[in-house]
Amino acid sequence: MDCIFCKIIAGEIPAQIVRETEHYIAFRDINPVAPSHVLVVPKKHLEKLGELTNMDESALRELFELVQDIAQAERIEETGFRTLVNVGKDAGQEVKHLHFHIIGGRRLGRIG
Ligand code: 5GP
Ligand code: ZN
Repeated sequence: MDCIFCKIIAGEIPAQIVRETEHYIAFRDINPVAPSHVLVVPKKHLEKLGELTNMDESALRELFELVQDIAQAERIEETGFRTLVNVGKDAGQEVKHLHFHIIGGRRLGRIG
C-alpha cells in the first residue's frame, strides 16, 4: 500500500521515533509547527477517527496513556499542549492514515 506512515511503521523510511507500544508508534513531525510536535499513529492502517471504534478497549486506553506519557516526556504537560486529529478534506487531512498530533512548547492560537 502506498502509505507513508505504513512505510515508517515497517521501517522502510526513517523517522525520529519517540515511543513505540503494542498498537502505536509515535514520531516527530517532519515539518513541526511548534517546538514539540509529535504524531501518534496506530500501527494498523486506519484512515478516519471513526475507525478507532474497531480497536478494543485496552488499545484505546493505551492511546490516551501514550499521549499523556509523551506530553510529560516532552515537558509540555504543565505548560499546556494540544492534541488534534484532522479528518477528511475540510480539515486538510494530508496523510490518509489516522494520526494524533501532539503540539506544544509555545503559546498556541485559537483553532479555526
Ligand atoms: P495532516 O494534515 O494529515 O493531519 O498532517 C500530516 C502531518 O504529517 C503533517 O504535519 C506533516 O508534516 C507530517 N508528515 C508528512 N509526511 C511525513 C513524513 O514522511 N515523516 C514525518 N515524520 N512526518 C510527515
Ligand atoms: Zn497507512
